[in-house]
Amino acid sequence: MEHKVLLSANEAVAQAAYHAGCTVAAAYPGTPSTEVMENIAKLKDAIRCEWSVNEKVAAEVAIGASLAGARTLVAMKHVGLNVAMDPIMTFTFVGAVGGMVVIVADDPGMHSSQNEQDSRVLAKFARVPVFEPSDSQEAYDMTHAAFDLSEQFEVPVFIRLTTRTSHASTLVNIDPDAPRKEVVSKGYTKDIIRNVAVPAYARPMRARVEKRTEALRNFAANSEFNRVEKGDNHLGFVTAGISYQYVKEVFPEFSVLKLGLSNPLPVETIRNFAATVDRLVVVEELDPLLEEQIRAAGIAVVDVKTPLRMMELNPMRITALRQELLGDATPPPVQSTLDGLPNRPPVLCAGCSHRGVFYILAKLKATVAGDIGCYTLGAFAPLSAMDTTICMGASIGSALGMEKAGMDGRIAAVIGDSTFLHSGITGLLNVAYNRGTITTVILDNSITAMTGHQKNPGSGTTITGAETVTIDIAAICRAVGIKRVCEVDAYNLAELERVLKEELDAPEASVVIAKGPCVIATKANVGATPYVVDPNKCTACGLCFKLGCPAILRGEAVGKRFKSAIDPAACIGCDQCRQVCKFNAISPRS
Ligand code: SF4
Ligand code: SF4
Repeated sequence: MEHKVLLSANEAVAQAAYHAGCTVAAAYPGTPSTEVMENIAKLKDAIRCEWSVNEKVAAEVAIGASLAGARTLVAMKHVGLNVAMDPIMTFTFVGAVGGMVVIVADDPGMHSSQNEQDSRVLAKFARVPVFEPSDSQEAYDMTHAAFDLSEQFEVPVFIRLTTRTSHASTLVNIDPDAPRKEVVSKGYTKDIIRNVAVPAYARPMRARVEKRTEALRNFAANSEFNRVEKGDNHLGFVTAGISYQYVKEVFPEFSVLKLGLSNPLPVETIRNFAATVDRLVVVEELDPLLEEQIRAAGIAVVDVKTPLRMMELNPMRITALRQELLGDATPPPVQSTLDGLPNRPPVLCAGCSHRGVFYILAKLKATVAGDIGCYTLGAFAPLSAMDTTICMGASIGSALGMEKAGMDGRIAAVIGDSTFLHSGITGLLNVAYNRGTITTVILDNSITAMTGHQKNPGSGTTITGAETVTIDIAAICRAVGIKRVCEVDAYNLAELERVLKEELDAPEASVVIAKGPCVIATKANVGATPYVVDPNKCTACGLCFKLGCPAILRGEAVGKRFKSAIDPAACIGCDQCRQVCKFNAISPRS
């Protein structure tokens, strides 16, 4: 009996991993991929799953599991793939034993990322097959197929999701009574020539990779996931992933070649399709990866002028393409105007323990190399206390580089606990080894907050809730050679200022661990006693506004300035504003 359920692609992938007999899964959280592992964790009895400390380690766990004969899955966002590429590039030479599926979720438009990149490019570079689902049903079906393909061709297989497919929910036909596939593990076979990538063995592996790529291209040509949908042949579209949905919506009457298995590109399939249409148009999200290969094969493609190469596609942008190609586009629906609505830039939560650190660093006029996490919001006004953000773990090396370049003044690196454990430790080791004098501030809330409060080695529990070691971050810092390491209460602003000033001015490297829980994860915002401003004492000096707490509002106007007021519904009583007010105007509500 048919049984349809509404699932996001991330949920569908988790379900498919279960049904396909996957037994080991690893990931590092990152939007928009996080829910893949969160949903697999609900199946923890069947799949051994983990939050790994970073994507490289997650990929290595999956590689080990594959070599041991198990079906395995690893999930990450696009920038995580950069971190994981080192082991993946070589594992494409060695080859999978148990099926290995790599879920990588791109973020076109950078809803929650520091850059925009197309993971298909890296997949082509690594010579691995890529599935591009257009909806959750395909995410489910393709995950199944990816495990089989991985074992058939002994290659890790990518599934490229994007924000829209990862998070949009569509109907998936799942038989609730379908048993989980009983995959008999192939077990581990010691085979040094096969599994040890040293030059002598890697050279024949290299040749095998090329041979395999051509075999995969033939496979793709016959894949059920690459299909022609015939229509008016004045135009023919080659498309993949979420772009397919937009093409079908805006050009419903025309022929489409939908590529579900897009790498290696089935060139002859495209050539045959091109021969049946007057004009061939390629629509893909982000890089012109398909288009460039199609052109390189000598197949004529319409040179589209509508800008489609950057940011997320949507039906309106594809409607502009229709206007260019046919001149008959129905204007996109008028969007409701946002005029008059207040700007709502992202901001640290009311009572966030990171706020005081940035307030003090700004006060001390430190140059701050920042990192990836909620705390990147410290870059925005009124705190404006972060000077750079590059990628996970880059703060510490960047700060050292500033020092080596001879920059004057106080230099700090600011990094969260999860990011420090992800890729900051080696940077700190480098500071100690190369005699840097920067101060590294670790914002320790013992959780991976930005992606939704996932556990990390500082949390004391695993993804399944099992108790485990709680990493001592201070001990790690000392172990890599930093002598000046101290912990400070992130809410004690006077102590923070004293310690940060002392460490920033010290002639050697130091680490300040600012400890304070995430107010959302600990529900500190529930039932808290809010603070109030006494308007009779408030002088409208404006100092508390510099904290940037969203609970602090403008009160009564005093000339061009404003007294402050506190929103009792938002305030969690963290006390930071009371500490900065020099007029004792702020206190807990009695
Ligand atoms: S710091 Fe104190 S005096 Fe200054 S605006 Fe805020 S509440 Fe008023
Ligand atoms: S006590 Fe002050 S700084 Fe803390 S949440 Fe309330 S208004 Fe914001």
